[in-house]
Amino acid sequence: MSQDVRSFLPTRRAVVGGLLASAPLLGTVPAWAKGPQTVDVVIIGAGLAGLNAASILEGQGLSVQVVEASDRVGGRLRTGRKDGYQAELGASEVGALYGRVRDACSRLNVGLTNKGGIPTDFLLHVNGVSLRPQDWANAPVNMTRGAERSILPYILQTGLFQRWLPFKDTAAWLDPANLVHDISAAEFMRAKGVSEAAIRLADIDVNGPSLESISALSIFRDLARARAEGFTDPNKPQYGVNNMERSYIVGGSDVLPKAMAAALKTPVRLLSPAVAVDQGDGKVRVQLANGDVLTGKYLVVAAPYSAVRNIRFTPGLPDAQADAIAGALYSATTQFHFRITKPYWEQDGLPPSLWTDLPFERAFALKSPETGATDTLIVWVNGDGATRWDDREVEQQSDLVIAELARVRPSMVGALDYILGYSWGRNPYVRGNKHVFGPGQVKRFATDMGKPVGRIHFAGEHLRRLEHGMESAMETGEAAAMEILEKA
Ligand SMILES: Cc1cc2nc3c(=O)[nH]c(=O)nc-3n(C[C@H](O)[C@H](O)[C@H](O)COP(=O)(O)OP(=O)(O)OC[C@H]3O[C@@H](n4cnc5c(N)ncnc54)[C@H](O)[C@@H]3O)c2cc1C
Repeated sequence: MSQDVRSFLPTRRAVVGGLLASAPLLGTVPAWAKGPQTVDVVIIGAGLAGLNAASILEGQGLSVQVVEASDRVGGRLRTGRKDGYQAELGASEVGALYGRVRDACSRLNVGLTNKGGIPTDFLLHVNGVSLRPQDWANAPVNMTRGAERSILPYILQTGLFQRWLPFKDTAAWLDPANLVHDISAAEFMRAKGVSEAAIRLADIDVNGPSLESISALSIFRDLARARAEGFTDPNKPQYGVNNMERSYIVGGSDVLPKAMAAALKTPVRLLSPAVAVDQGDGKVRVQLANGDVLTGKYLVVAAPYSAVRNIRFTPGLPDAQADAIAGALYSATTQFHFRITKPYWEQDGLPPSLWTDLPFERAFALKSPETGATDTLIVWVNGDGATRWDDREVEQQSDLVIAELARVRPSMVGALDYILGYSWGRNPYVRGNKHVFGPGQVKRFATDMGKPVGRIHFAGEHLRRLEHGMESAMETGEAAAMEILEKA
């Protein structure tokens, strides 16, 4: 569990080789690749952060060129569509307090709906045994101790940290008084007397590489934000139940970034990874993998720090930014979507969803909000669990998932059609679903890691202060745009 996620990252040489291999071939340059060479602001990354910065800057009359490494806009908003099935492979839930996301939707005529997949109850499978939640507290396979025994495994992590939450104010995580919590979450739990068996189970739900490698303060920061959104009950899991008010983007999450990109005056340059940034003479030059150089008065780096690691900066960045980039930790995530063809739970009489200590971790069976039928199963693996499988294609991973499901739950054999899956850990331009801090990292660089360096500004959810998820991307894109507008 404590394996350092960075040891899984490819070498710089391998990544640059990959980038160059994906650059457009000479003579086949598509229309979007012919953008202006000189603009007021170059923006690296067409996720919500980069697109929001671009929209604000263009709105104030500046010329902007967004460059995007992949073949699509949206970054971690990614909707898969196959055989009439629509799968959110990235962000889907728009929180009630997401003012900027909601405002962008309303400006761009992007619809929001409150209808999303309805969760179903979990069957537990722990230490080789399947059991119902009501049997957990007294089950022989429950190796936790004392009062822990009655806490369901899928509530352990958020429930315990929710009870220990040292602050409720979403901004308080950066208060010097709270830096005492900037230690390994696993160490924090041990200091509270939590058993190793409980730590092992809590680790399955952590949205970070592992409880050993994530800072307790990082967890507290996100829980304080989730509290503001309405997640206050320590007896409920954060995932897999309806515990917060949220909306979904009509037609799929990627509808929003596509609409934001379409509203820009200058089209986003796709398949254009930035590989080098050079600052001097009152300008910033950005070299793309195909050799093109774009010049701007300012630059917004709105790519995740896991990907910024592969961009060479001249002169080098100051320590806070350089250390944050070199040490950036992301929570790998892989999802597998299945259509349910037979009600397997009627055959074995057990709850439809699964929460396990097996490599596939969790399987959420969801009811359709339209028909009420339980028709979708999403297997969701997070952190080191996902990284462990990321040496192979997601289709090969799905074979393992199917085999494991059949082994632990024979009624599922012939009851599922695999549709599609996606691994964020394998995406070289993102590497995970979100940035988290490792022990000591909040203290070392959280305050300064997003500060502008001359004409270079930074945005992206990894720089979140008050918000989280999509809203934090919008927040940080807006902040970078404001910094530039104050200077321009
Ligand atoms: C599985 C999953 C579930 C999630 N669920 C939710 C949810 O329900 N609700 C919620 O609010 N949030 C959720 N999130 C988080 C949310 O998606 C992110 O916080 C947000 O989209 C991040 O936006 P961003 O612009 O900061 O980064 P990104 O969306 O990652 O965009 C960065 C862009 O930079 C590009 N890039 C990288 N390197 C380069 C380079 N060298 N040159 C050019 N371009 C580059 C990338 O290709 C990418 O398109 C989820 C994320 C995932 C993956």
